[in-house]
Amino acid sequence: MSKMIPTKHVDAHMGELVSDLQMLIRQPSVSAKNEGIEECAILVQKLLKKSGVKSEILRLKKGVAPIVYGEIKSKQNSKKTLMFYNHYDVQPAEPFDLWDDPPFSGTKKGNKIFGRGATDDKGELITRIKAVEACLKTTGDVPCNIKFVIEGEEETGSAHIEEYLRKYKKKFSCDGVIWEFGYVDAKNRPIIGLGMKGLLFVELSVKESIRDAHSSLAVLIKNPAWRLIEVVNTLRNSDGEVLIKDWYSEVSSFSKNDLKIIKNEPFDENVFKKEFGIKSFVGNKKGMDAKKALVGGATCNIAGFVSGYVGDGAKTVLPGSALVKIDFRLIPKMDPKKQVLRLKNHLKSKGFSDVGIRVYHGEAAARTDSSHPFVSQVKDAADKSFGKSILNVSNAGTGPMYPFVEILNAPCISIGSTYMFSRIHSPNEFARVDLLKKTTKCMCEIMINFGNS
Ligand SMILES: [Zn+2]
Repeated sequence: MSKMIPTKHVDAHMGELVSDLQMLIRQPSVSAKNEGIEECAILVQKLLKKSGVKSEILRLKKGVAPIVYGEIKSKQNSKKTLMFYNHYDVQPAEPFDLWDDPPFSGTKKGNKIFGRGATDDKGELITRIKAVEACLKTTGDVPCNIKFVIEGEEETGSAHIEEYLRKYKKKFSCDGVIWEFGYVDAKNRPIIGLGMKGLLFVELSVKESIRDAHSSLAVLIKNPAWRLIEVVNTLRNSDGEVLIKDWYSEVSSFSKNDLKIIKNEPFDENVFKKEFGIKSFVGNKKGMDAKKALVGGATCNIAGFVSGYVGDGAKTVLPGSALVKIDFRLIPKMDPKKQVLRLKNHLKSKGFSDVGIRVYHGEAAARTDSSHPFVSQVKDAADKSFGKSILNVSNAGTGPMYPFVEILNAPCISIGSTYMFSRIHSPNEFARVDLLKKTTKCMCEIMINFGNS
């Protein structure tokens, strides 16, 4: 297999990469509003076919966005299968008036293509389709078997991805997954992410009286906001440690290799603090501790707290109820279902049986072992294509990586073209053409390394 595939052929087809991406952006596909979902799925299927990938539309049931599935078998190496996981849906474009160009116009200005989904995730998707196409056009083959799983509900929480993975477990079987996105930092270094944290989102509420009362009655009527503050205060200490019994029971510490990777990860504390206008971190963490927390720390975060009057001026009121929304970031081996039980037991044992609890969302963390050979294959490809790259033990955020790792039993790695300041989910989202190009080459190199292994 010619080592020249990526550079020569990707360069020759960059024009089409841009116009195909523009075409994708021009088809709105807002999952939150069920706008253009079917149309976009059909468009993606056509793009795959045009690039030489056999594709079909998979369905679960009515009302669930379809998955666009693509597959191409390698003639020279049919033993190893690489999956590209992506999504064709996008975030709503609102507020429209903050966009310089219409959000679904795909306007190109110099090195940038603007539009909702330009990077997240249509830009990422196009690099992978074009990488496969480049291989096919140059050699008439792909270096390993390729599968595309492109879902349409990622931006609303991937509610059915697990069901899809279970239903099509055989069809989707593979030896490695390239995750839907990957960040590129301000120094043009791609960040190779080996994991995602999990998430547990709950709402706790206290209802004391059937209506708000005059606050003079606070001598007799209990205030539910005070009650809820007492509750919340038992959940974690000021260093950020969760105080719920057995919360960390199953968690294991970082491996030696993980620690080495974390140590090598660039993190400028001062730039970070300046960005947010803050003076210190939780628990006064510094250096290695701050970096370890980002990749492997669990949290108990108050996302919102409401009770009583918070409008202009003064109002002497005694609220009848209080509510708090809390998100817990989970780390590997924390089972969301178990953690909910632990939270419930905690409330009961502390005498807070009157507190209502509603669970919105639970998702486990996933992490690929940093010593897995897939990691060095991807790292080598990224170094070759970008000149340099950074390994990251886990993203601080959450994504539905767990069911992939668990059901497909395959390692998952995130790498891509998402410039970290490309305004994803915000007005004027853009993709950088130079990064799309480098990422396309990188995807070719990954396929080659993976096929050769
Ligand atoms: Zn997104």
